[in-house]
Amino acid sequence: MKKIVDLSFHIEVGMPFFPSGKHTPFEVSKTCTIETAGREIRKFTIGSHCGTHIDAFCHFIPGGLSIDELPLNRVAGEALLVNLAPLQPQTVIEIDDIAGKMTDEKIEKLIIRTGWSKFWKTEQYFKDWPLLSNKCAKFIIEKGVKLLGLDFPSPDPAYKGKENEKDSPIHKLLFKNDVILVEYLNNLAELGEGKIFFSAIPLKLKDFDGSPVRAAGWRI
Ligand SMILES: [Zn+2]
Repeated sequence: MKKIVDLSFHIEVGMPFFPSGKHTPFEVSKTCTIETAGREIRKFTIGSHCGTHIDAFCHFIPGGLSIDELPLNRVAGEALLVNLAPLQPQTVIEIDDIAGKMTDEKIEKLIIRTGWSKFWKTEQYFKDWPLLSNKCAKFIIEKGVKLLGLDFPSPDPAYKGKENEKDSPIHKLLFKNDVILVEYLNNLAELGEGKIFFSAIPLKLKDFDGSPVRAAGWRI
């Protein structure tokens, strides 16, 4: 049996979350304990883009598919893992960085490793992360990719504003072209490079824009 590699970060109190002011910290409390009630039950509050998570199209596109509407074949299956690690802060990933690693056969799921996950729980994680160029995003779309997994926070630069064309343009380009995003992947180094089975099945949250996932993968 091949080792199934856990590609997720822990969901825990104090975990980092996207510092835009729009996301919520993870919080947890016990509604009862074994000592007081013979059983332990907890409740938690979590943002839909907290930790390793998947974005649905309705995160940015009005009327776009929500988390519960994503067919499971779209979020689990054969994938190509491309290794670009270690990338320096603010590196823009271009077509040339990945084109040579993409085979001619159809690749529906593409996972890009940059090594950025090592900065989780440091100030660097949400600062100057690697980016995806517009041309590279278009190349990925033209290749037929329908799921893009990243080990960094976002394919877009941080932008605090409301102008539509400047706010998360790569997210919008990918979503308009039917490409699902999985962000904050961890432990990709354990899978090396090449063909893997990848799974990022979200909770069945009705009408949700995103969901934490227990992402996992194994070599095939
Ligand atoms: Zn997200």
